[in-house]
Amino acid sequence: MTQDRYDYVIVGAGLAGASAVEGIRQHDKQGSILLAGAEPQRPYNRPPLSKQLWTGKETLEKIFIHGAEFYERERVDLALATQIDAVDAGAREIRDRQGRRYRYGKLLLATGGSPRRLPIPGGGLDGLSYFRTYDDYVQLRRAAASAKTAVVIGGGFIGSEIAAALNMSGIEVSMVFPGPHLVDRVFPEPLARALQSGFAERGVQVLAGDRPVSITRSGMHFIVRTEKGRRLRADLAVAGIGITPNLTLAAQTGLQTGDGIVVNELLQTSDPDIYAAGDNAFFPYRSLGKAMRIEHWDHALNQGRCAGRNMAGAGETYDYMPFFFSDLFDFGYEAVGNVDASLETWADWQEENRTGVIYYLVDGVVQGVMLCNVWEKVDAARELIRARKRWTHATLRGMIR
Ligand code: NAP
Repeated sequence: MTQDRYDYVIVGAGLAGASAVEGIRQHDKQGSILLAGAEPQRPYNRPPLSKQLWTGKETLEKIFIHGAEFYERERVDLALATQIDAVDAGAREIRDRQGRRYRYGKLLLATGGSPRRLPIPGGGLDGLSYFRTYDDYVQLRRAAASAKTAVVIGGGFIGSEIAAALNMSGIEVSMVFPGPHLVDRVFPEPLARALQSGFAERGVQVLAGDRPVSITRSGMHFIVRTEKGRRLRADLAVAGIGITPNLTLAAQTGLQTGDGIVVNELLQTSDPDIYAAGDNAFFPYRSLGKAMRIEHWDHALNQGRCAGRNMAGAGETYDYMPFFFSDLFDFGYEAVGNVDASLETWADWQEENRTGVIYYLVDGVVQGVMLCNVWEKVDAARELIRARKRWTHATLRGMIR
């Protein structure tokens, strides 16, 4: 049973929203909470959808962030499959698609992002997967059970992880993406080339420097035609070409937006009773000294919690340095800080392109660190970034092992 007014309303039942509940309850055991989300499932972790669920290291029942009893115990009203269409900041209320209104004391917009669509003929074809959600996983897994071939469009996080997952499921995979190599915004070229060779050795056809221009169906198959004149025929087509932050509610309400919903160090938007956190928040990243938006799991977890604490009055500056991680076959990595491949990079390999640490530098100052098959060193990497000292390659050598 929902009510008409809540002390806290959270729009977006993803990781940031679920973590905000925890944050609120750290400071306010009594206040009423509504958590509303468009998807029918209660909040779940997305990383397993493109990783551990395919290797059998995780099962679908285990990916939920909290058990159903958590919401009961914490007295949180969960409104799932509920699309919120409007925020009236003047009246301090939100409205769902059915016209129900809920007033709030504090509001959190944890609305995340939506997959970008291919702006080409056939970009909206039935069965073409823009892989992001629980339902997307279930559908792709079902289709993969009887598929022999797949085209994966995009060579970023989703493209590389899904290509590896489908390959491990015995499917012949072709990947196509415009950049020069896999995950090109993060991996330095030599590493990406080595990983690409690993993909090729396992039978994945990696078509870098090309992009789809149309997608059609021929019987049960997808036909993907590319700029360079290729014609790729496959049983499955999956696209991961990035996300755009969901800003409609914030913009309609007149909140300041840019590449995301602009928030201050307390994660408040331009309306101090409205907060934002997760994929959609454009926030001051203190350790890097600039404002940005981050689309990763650990960020949503910690920023969501901080937003919840602040909604409950904690007044805490968000100063967390999130990490992210990925597994591509037997190459696993964790990364922290600014791992932008356009920065100067220097790699301290124990085993070339396999085990070691990559440093991302500006004028000798470490901005980001990627730990390749090196584990439990994220805190050491954070310290190095926070120190803002100047290093030479010689002084960095062996710094993290
Ligand atoms: P992404 O990492 O930004 O990668 C987008 C990819 O699509 C890039 O390779 C890009 O190529 C390519 N692309 C862009 N336009 C294209 C087009 N018209 N045709 C073909 N390729 C095109 O985004 P994503 O892989 O879709 O991931 C979505 C979100 O999930 C991100 O927020 C990501 O952070 C998150 N995620 C994270 C992880 C992780 O942390 N391990 C794993 C999965 C997903 P260019 O680079 O050349 O433009």
